[in-house]
Amino acid sequence: MSSATTYESTSSGHMCNMDRCVERTSLSIHNFGRRFYGCQQWSPDSVQACNFFKWLDNNTCPRGRATAPLVHERFTRYKAEAVATRNERDEAYVREAETRELLRIAKRKAEKSKLALQIAEDKVYKYRLALFLSWTVLGVYFVFSTVLGGHGHTQLRLP
Ligand SMILES: [Zn+2]
Repeated sequence: MSSATTYESTSSGHMCNMDRCVERTSLSIHNFGRRFYGCQQWSPDSVQACNFFKWLDNNTCPRGRATAPLVHERFTRYKAEAVATRNERDEAYVREAETRELLRIAKRKAEKSKLALQIAEDKVYKYRLALFLSWTVLGVYFVFSTVLGGHGHTQLRLP
């Protein structure tokens, strides 16, 4: 319904004290596109509101009355398709958000794994270093003990 123009409604039959009416266009099947003017107080949701109205256009022709249901049916179908498309879009948004969350979790796990690998590699390096140092110390000890031990051994010999 449109409310482009206002009309003085001094005609008889107006039930409330509003002095202006609003032009509207009927979308009902049997009066499709037919303009009327009615009280500003009229509301489709209220039974108590003033329901004064007067047709501005003549009655719709038979061809128009026959065409209106077809237009209405097509409109209803398009509306249902639009709702279905909107629902699919909303579902896609939800799935996209879920996928993003899974990706975020996977990235965090990957970062943790990378960190754990780095720590493990550091430990391996430290153990290898410790092993190398221990063998070096052992080697040095062996060399010194051979040299000093041999010397000691000669010292320990009785003259
Ligand atoms: Zn009224």
